Amino acid sequence: MPFSSIRELAHEQVVINRDEETGLTSIIAIHDTTLGPALGGCRMHPYTSDTDALRDALRLSRGMTYKAAAAGLDLGGGKAVILGDPKTEKSEALFRTFGRAVESLGGRYITAEDAGTGVADIEQIRKETSFVVGVDNTHGGSGDPSPVTARGVLHGMRAACEAAFGSDELAGRTVAIQGLGNVGLPLARLLRDEGAHIIASDVDPERIADARREIPKLEIAESESIFDADADIFAPCAMGSAVNDDTVGRIKARVVCGSANNQLDHDELGAELAGRGIVYAPDYLVNAGGLINVSVELEGYNQERALRLAESIYTNTRTALRIAREEEIPPNQAADRMAKRRIESMRSVGRAFPTFRRRRGRRSK
Ligand code: NAD
Repeated sequence: MPFSSIRELAHEQVVINRDEETGLTSIIAIHDTTLGPALGGCRMHPYTSDTDALRDALRLSRGMTYKAAAAGLDLGGGKAVILGDPKTEKSEALFRTFGRAVESLGGRYITAEDAGTGVADIEQIRKETSFVVGVDNTHGGSGDPSPVTARGVLHGMRAACEAAFGSDELAGRTVAIQGLGNVGLPLARLLRDEGAHIIASDVDPERIADARREIPKLEIAESESIFDADADIFAPCAMGSAVNDDTVGRIKARVVCGSANNQLDHDELGAELAGRGIVYAPDYLVNAGGLINVSVELEGYNQERALRLAESIYTNTRTALRIAREEEIPPNQAADRMAKRRIESMRSVGRAFPTFRRRRGRRSK
């Protein structure tokens, strides 16, 4: 599978780094740098096979290309995976060695946090390379992206409501939020401020208690019954695959729009939702606030600017839904088409990433 997949998914470069001393085995997949340097997080996971690790890196890096392109950012798509157990196999030496591997690519790949890696690991990586984002606020970085992600989801939700109800007004709408975590809770706050009624679920009772303290009118649903909620909008903000063959028929909402990655268990569910008259706001378009947030870090972080840039999610979602209507395809395919068209149209302009390298010097240790 490996080489054929690299060809099929059209990756530019895949780099494997191994270091006996520190135990590092990492794969850096650079999918496409037409629009700019390949940006994407570094995941650490105890993969059961090398093939699984490579498959993950290839799939996720391609997803980043589409996400950045559709968000209108001058960034390409990349992703790194470190093969290992994040609970037992982390060390300063391992992350610094990984940082050197990133540095050796000279800015073609910019890394960040992902599942299994955190702020402390980023701190080690940044000792070896300046090609890293998602750095802590205390070091001038962008810190937690969740507030910007939540704001972006709100913009996407408005655009989806316009398509579904003919008005982007959220006041008086009922929104069922699955997951009151780092994005779900700020989204609930924003919706409360808009005058929406919120039904929410979370498997963690503490998260529910925290949310209830802030939003006394919050209605709580058992986690499994959130799909059946009598709501206008269903907002998956927990794990992937919220929309699957078992749940799709239960969704009463006319709009699906939330922060979770990979909300559709498989691609055909996009058509299934459309067939049921449900407007699906493509996940990677509406949750791009996190990526927009770290992209601002490349120029010197400013949250106001990140929030302003996240407003583009309204227009992007609208455009994808228009393409879906006009070209009679589901919105998830329309988002991919939008991303691919931007990349194609920019090929002739040439690559833009050297500007980033000029602006940022190597950090002092
Ligand atoms: P989080 O871990 O802070 O929150 C997830 C919440 O979902 C937790 O409170 C958890 O208890 C709850 N949960 C898990 N399973 C559930 C279930 N079956 N039913 C109800 N609740 C459940 O994560 P987050 O940072 O808020 O991210 C939420 C989603 O958005 C993830 O899919 C993430 O990949 C995606 N996302 C997040 C960001 C960001 O900026 N944080 C950016 C882009 C995408």
